[in-house]
Amino acid sequence: MQTVKQLKELREAVDDLRQSGTIAMVPTMGALHEGHLTLVREAKRHAEHVTASIFINPTQFGPNEDLDAYPRQLAEDQRKLEAEGVALLWAPDVGSMYPDGFATRISVAGVSEGLCGASRPGHFDGVATVVCKLFNQLRPDVALFGEKDWQQLAVIRRMARDLDLTQPYVDRIIGVPTVREADGLAMSSRNAYLSPDERASAAQLNQAMLRSIAQIESGADVPASLGALERALLDAGFASVDYASLADADSLALLDSTPTRPARLLVAARIGGTRLIDNMSVEPPA
Ligand code: AMP
Repeated sequence: MQTVKQLKELREAVDDLRQSGTIAMVPTMGALHEGHLTLVREAKRHAEHVTASIFINPTQFGPNEDLDAYPRQLAEDQRKLEAEGVALLWAPDVGSMYPDGFATRISVAGVSEGLCGASRPGHFDGVATVVCKLFNQLRPDVALFGEKDWQQLAVIRRMARDLDLTQPYVDRIIGVPTVREADGLAMSSRNAYLSPDERASAAQLNQAMLRSIAQIESGADVPASLGALERALLDAGFASVDYASLADADSLALLDSTPTRPARLLVAARIGGTRLIDNMSVEPPA
């Protein structure tokens, strides 16, 4: 596996790869776990060469968020990606991604506005801008993202559609189901922040969501079920709940009654100083 840190080198490496086949891309912020590696394995099914990026993107972190604390472990990540057969790792530093004078921002209205967009102002502008740059830098035929970040996936698809991106085409932006720990907690680089007690309580997030989904799918009152979910999280030791919402799976428009089309239950909640997110599908009652 070749690791590249400069744009000029990247262009040459991508041109070389392209001569012998199609390219899939898996963008990450590093501190890789089985969720990321599942994206890499899935990527192999869609292209001859798999490329990954590791870039902790400062523009998607708010002023009081965990940019400085975010885990950095490039050597270990390189070993994991190499073992999975990744051909090329793009690991730019902040100065090459955002050189002096950088002044452009991509802002996707609508899908980026509620949920995490409301609790993390500017976050999705940072995501859309860096992902657009990554697409232009690697020009992948296909790109893979986790459904763990459902709203992020919706924002990226909207951007690709609206800007007529061709590498990748919007229908080559692939969502991969969330990989979970045995107790249901969605894998996340941020789980490393959890103390043993917090880690034990964190499993309640997914378990409370499953209970709420069962209620909603059998026709229970939606606001009452979401209220019970929020209370269950606070009782389980979560410090606060940013949101616990039912939304249309595609538009992310909030729903306050039993869904009639595929929907999603999405939650962001804080335990100690760590913000966890999760989402799961909610089917309309038969
Ligand atoms: P991150 O490094 O957290 O920015 O994540 C990089 C990519 O991996 C994103 O597309 C995430 O949605 C995806 N990802 C993170 N955690 C998981 C997980 N538990 N299961 C599946 N995909 C994930």
